[in-house]
Amino acid sequence: MISSRVKLLSSSSTLKITALTKKLKKEGRDVVNFAAGEPDFDTPSFIKEKAKLAIDQGSTKYTPSAGTNEIRQAICNKLKEENNIPCEAPNIIVTSGAKYAIFASMVTFLDKGDEVLVPAPFWVSYPEMAKLCGAKIKIIKTKAKDGFKLSADLLARAISKKTKLLVLNYPSNPTGVTYNEGELKAIYDVVKDKNIIVLSDEIYEILTYDGARHVSFASIGDAHKFTVTINGFSKSFSMTGWRLGYLEAASNFIEAISKVIDHTTSCASSVSQAAGLAAIQDKKWPQTMREEFEKRRNMLFGGLSTLKKIKPFKPNGTFYMFCDIKKSGLSSVEFSSSLLDKHLVSTIPADSFGAEGFIRLSFATSTQDIEKGIARIKEFTSSL
Ligand code: PMP
Ligand code: GLU
Repeated sequence: MISSRVKLLSSSSTLKITALTKKLKKEGRDVVNFAAGEPDFDTPSFIKEKAKLAIDQGSTKYTPSAGTNEIRQAICNKLKEENNIPCEAPNIIVTSGAKYAIFASMVTFLDKGDEVLVPAPFWVSYPEMAKLCGAKIKIIKTKAKDGFKLSADLLARAISKKTKLLVLNYPSNPTGVTYNEGELKAIYDVVKDKNIIVLSDEIYEILTYDGARHVSFASIGDAHKFTVTINGFSKSFSMTGWRLGYLEAASNFIEAISKVIDHTTSCASSVSQAAGLAAIQDKKWPQTMREEFEKRRNMLFGGLSTLKKIKPFKPNGTFYMFCDIKKSGLSSVEFSSSLLDKHLVSTIPADSFGAEGFIRLSFATSTQDIEKGIARIKEFTSSL
């Protein structure tokens, strides 16, 4: 009964473990949640108020499938001013979450047998979405000693005649690394004349640390012509449940992706779009959250660095910390499962990110829990 494409899919480890953690907490178990793939802040009240107003004023019907003119214009202004992307409002499509922006793009571009390049460690959903499109996935393994970064050299060696699309994601889920302009320019130089589409997932752009400045791939040279920029409201405004994301691309791409949206979701939620319009015009709130995450990153990194059998990498973006656990002698799944079972600390094993021997910790949790979590991990690693 099940299609051969879907039979090939794995379920999402991030969503599964996050749901299990929430369930245990609801049952009253004192779990430290280092699994969360979402900010622990409440959606700011100025955003909620706009959503309530939108409902009361009747913004409860279909919007144009690419989004309301107002939100597309506001997103366009942001991308021009902050990201230096040469776009116009018609280059924007608002989607039901950034996840759907990625999927709609992949469906638009990928034919059976097309090759998709995915640097590892990667976010779980890229290979699965590409599989659903019948594409062939080529994983490019990056190394810890190179800061888990895709180099021009690695990329050049991975490209073949069949390569159709390259997935870039920075700041990266799960490693937290980000790229500077020079590194992006080197990637641009490799792909620019190769007829390859770059899907640049920049959903964590707000969350950079140590003064790192986010540079959008589409702002480099003529990359805008072959890049789909993915972004959204989930991480910047703590709006994961509102399901609001967007993409920006050249007009010929937009025309094609629009057809997929027309026949699948029709449009993103009208109420969420009204809320998103209020959100995107505020520049202060995300910075307050960013500052808090930077403090928590320092705290978690400081604590884990003193422990044996676990080696944390200091991220300069996102709210994830990637840790090498190979010295424990356990696999990623064994380490994560035992830590949850015996010490009530939930983490994500990184085998599903294409990185066996590593786990991902999220510091989107309170400082009290970070302290408690470090103490419990210490107890666990000392017992190994
Ligand atoms: N890209 C990355 C790298 C992510 O971690 C997430 C988190 N879910 C998404 C895209 C999708 O975000 P959303 O669909 O909530 O906008
Ligand atoms: N992106 C988040 C994570 O990696 C949320 C869950 C998901 O969509 O995968 O945990």
